[in-house]
Amino acid sequence: MKIYVQTDIEGVAGFCFRENRSNQSYENIRHRYRMYRLLTGEVNAAVKAAFDAGATDVVVNDNHGTGYNIIFEELDPRCRIVHGRNCSGPHWLPFLDSSFDAMILIGMHAMGGTPKAIIPHSKWEVNDGQLYLSEGSMAAAIAGDFGVPTVMMSGDDKVAAEIGEKIIDIEQVVVKQAISPYQACSMIPARACAEIAEGVKRGLARRSSIAPYKIPGPVKLNLLDSISHAPPLIHQGETVTADSINEAFMNFERAMEWTEFDLENLVEGYSFP
Ligand SMILES: [Zn+2]
Repeated sequence: MKIYVQTDIEGVAGFCFRENRSNQSYENIRHRYRMYRLLTGEVNAAVKAAFDAGATDVVVNDNHGTGYNIIFEELDPRCRIVHGRNCSGPHWLPFLDSSFDAMILIGMHAMGGTPKAIIPHSKWEVNDGQLYLSEGSMAAAIAGDFGVPTVMMSGDDKVAAEIGEKIIDIEQVVVKQAISPYQACSMIPARACAEIAEGVKRGLARRSSIAPYKIPGPVKLNLLDSISHAPPLIHQGETVTADSINEAFMNFERAMEWTEFDLENLVEGYSFP
């Protein structure tokens, strides 16, 4: 059984401030490292539970910001992790294909403009607004194109409401209740990790009865966001049309200046991150 674990940091228990990578103060660096540890704990809980449930291959995608957040030396050594500069490889979700048996979403956040959500951003507009997707439901839809069901998600109550409406049978672990854009009521990390482990086991046990999340093509797609992520959210590029959500997503992303898919050679030498 092959499992894909898509991760983000904003929906992890205990996280309620937007990451600030340019602040070099001791307090900020210490805070960021602490958040990385919380993310690592939740991801590891999901990985271990997947292997306990019979997985033979677990691929983790470190997908927040730099793509280099998870403290991988603390992960279960049976998994593999995709990390490094996001969107410099072939896909936003590298290696995901129809050979996977299930997708798991850890640390998801609400889409841009969601009231009282923690760090809401990215609002995918499908078919001129007939449907809107968060990053989490977009990952589920891309997996759906490959026939892969998304069986479990964790995050705050706002993103859980959105994804739960789209994937009725998904297992959900709400690790925090967002009570303002800047305040949440979180589970304590040990409890969040235990609940995530149970959620993964339940989701994988029911995977054959959870349908892949499919968005029928052709698909029109655009992204609503703003520099601060605060409303008003505006279109971030030209609307693209494609036969599938996966193709539409990649066509849209490739046109964005922040992406550099399919890099083969160094562009600006070496840098970290
Ligand atoms: Zn993120």
